[in-house]
Amino acid sequence: MKLTDPVSTIKGIGPKKETALAAAGINTLQDIIYFFPRSYEDRRNVTPIAEADTGTEVLVEAEVVSLRVSGSPYNRKAPLSVLIRDESAGAEAVFFNGRFLRSMFRVGSKYVFFGKVSCSFGRKQMIHPQFSEAGSKDDIRGILPVYPAIHGISQNELRRIQRELAELHDKIPEWLPEDVIRDNRLCGPEYAVRNIHFPQNAHRVLASRFRMVFEELITLQTGLMYIRSDKRLNNSGVVIDTSYGDSFVESLPFSLTDGQRGAWSDIKSDLNSTKRMNRLLQGDVGSGKTVIAEMSMYSAAGSGYQSVIMAPTELLAKQHADTFSKDLSESGFNIVLLVSSMPAASKKSALRAIESGEADMVIATHAVIQENVVFHDLGLVITDEQHRFGVEQRRTLSSKGENANILVMTATPIPRTLAVILYGDLDVSQIKSMPAGRKPVQTSAFGQDGRECVYGFAKKEIAKGRQGYVVAPLIEDSENVDAVSAESLYKELRKEFNGYKLALVHGSIKPADKEQIMADFAAGLINILVSTVVIEVGINVKNATFMIIENAERFGLAQLHQLRGRVGRGSSESYCFLIMNRGSELAAERADILCTTNDGFEIAEKDLELRGPGEIFGTRQHGLPNLILSDIVKHRDVLRKAAASAKKIIQKDPELSSPQESELKRRVKKMFGEDIKLDL
Ligand code: ADP
Ligand code: MG
Repeated sequence: MKLTDPVSTIKGIGPKKETALAAAGINTLQDIIYFFPRSYEDRRNVTPIAEADTGTEVLVEAEVVSLRVSGSPYNRKAPLSVLIRDESAGAEAVFFNGRFLRSMFRVGSKYVFFGKVSCSFGRKQMIHPQFSEAGSKDDIRGILPVYPAIHGISQNELRRIQRELAELHDKIPEWLPEDVIRDNRLCGPEYAVRNIHFPQNAHRVLASRFRMVFEELITLQTGLMYIRSDKRLNNSGVVIDTSYGDSFVESLPFSLTDGQRGAWSDIKSDLNSTKRMNRLLQGDVGSGKTVIAEMSMYSAAGSGYQSVIMAPTELLAKQHADTFSKDLSESGFNIVLLVSSMPAASKKSALRAIESGEADMVIATHAVIQENVVFHDLGLVITDEQHRFGVEQRRTLSSKGENANILVMTATPIPRTLAVILYGDLDVSQIKSMPAGRKPVQTSAFGQDGRECVYGFAKKEIAKGRQGYVVAPLIEDSENVDAVSAESLYKELRKEFNGYKLALVHGSIKPADKEQIMADFAAGLINILVSTVVIEVGINVKNATFMIIENAERFGLAQLHQLRGRVGRGSSESYCFLIMNRGSELAAERADILCTTNDGFEIAEKDLELRGPGEIFGTRQHGLPNLILSDIVKHRDVLRKAAASAKKIIQKDPELSSPQESELKRRVKKMFGEDIKLDL
């Protein structure tokens, strides 16, 4: 047997099981050796039968007193009853269809049984327990590995396979460089593998898992650093004179916050240099990222380059277009909007202006990624609310200008350690302060019975001339289904708020109608805007002071925080009401967090703790490969160590071309798949 042999060389693995294993990514013997238990079952302690409580799983060691097959002796399916007894009491092990097992037991010998205890006619029973002869080589005592389920292959079979392959453990080569092993005090891979499958004590398992998590994370970090240092990417960027941005600020009615100033200073040093800017700008909802985009784009225009900002929704693109036109009306630069719903004629003229270079600043949705959009001289690319776009879309847009500087903006506050991992190819700036005078949104949670009280409060706010939002429950990840729920909520609310002006927006409303409604809402002609989550990003209506979120337990923490950011944009006190089914502890905990803090970073950290990173970032879409053993939040410390080691390796051997690095390279390639172009 060799590590590279196919799994079909294992006894008992036919084509069917081979397919099942392949579906789990297991093709070779090495793969299956690296298929690790998800947990362990402790079967070291024997419980006396008298102390074995019904309903619990126990291990008992007992002598077989008698064997009995009930029913007709010719019935092959007749159950086998094995009466057992230890020093404390007696019990019965029952095997339905178990006649064939009869020969496995000898009356008078000792066996070990593991299973759940039940009770029948006052006698303790174990139905279909696992068993072995006490002290035999198959003894089921010990710490047992529990493997992730693979369809069609039982736990026992997985354990048997691992036992059979144990003779290969010594052939697993050490593949990490000596100094990495020394610096991180790693145990050898053969030791790690053996102790993970056949653990002897907790200490060894820990050391072994550390080694394996480290293996995975150094592979991840090496891949990300490789992408970052990829020489094939064009790293030279056009130089943009940022003094235009500085003078633009002077024209604003406010001065920049400290956070904005810090971000701008980072961006300035990028834009003024010949190195291509590649920067992530994080700032909580309402922290004022748009101004930074305007400063950057104005600077590009002043320096003779085109620039583009891509927004995730038409609504947001149009709102940006309004803001830009207003703020930059005096500049004499040509601001062009490009969205899919535009009439063909205006779209055509927009495209022509973009291609000829007549369009100085382009404000767009996804429409701008399409092939027929050609820029004349693109110097700066901005994506707003970056978390809404996949890595691929970001790349496509960047490719429209070979030397264009790149800025991505997001309101999803990702803890810095994670930002570096998720956007390993980006530098990170954060705006942590809010514009002065902004009051935190007062948030409170209510059960279903709290609606009346909340509606009463809303009416009082409206009487003061204020407006608000009601967010319909999230049903599925589908706008259509959400639309239905928003429609019925709207009907209800129309009854409740009889005599008030209400409007409804959701994903299937025609863009032109939606635009009209948003304009009316901004103009104060609508008291309450009922909506699905389409209002999540960007909308900026200062007079809106309350938000009611239905079925708040269905939204993630970060999303609730984003939604809530639609209010509290002006100087008046603002309120957010979460109407929720507080069935679960998790829901209550989340409500608690939202009600007590307005700090997006703190909320993001909590969200990570509660839900884990996978669910939040939808890993693949964000370019982060699937990790099997590691959890980038739980194993932050290992991650940091792995990063330091990966850095050393990449610095010494940027192409991973030395023979010592060949296994690392193979693993990087396997982990990143299509996402990485590594010559092998
Ligand atoms: P976001 O970061 O969520 O995109 P915006 O850029 O939409 O936030 O800004 C929210 C509001 O804050 C806008 O009305 C903007 O004009 C205002 N604003 C931005 N910066 C400042 C500042 N330094 N002082 C006062 N108001 C500001
Ligand atoms: Mg914004």
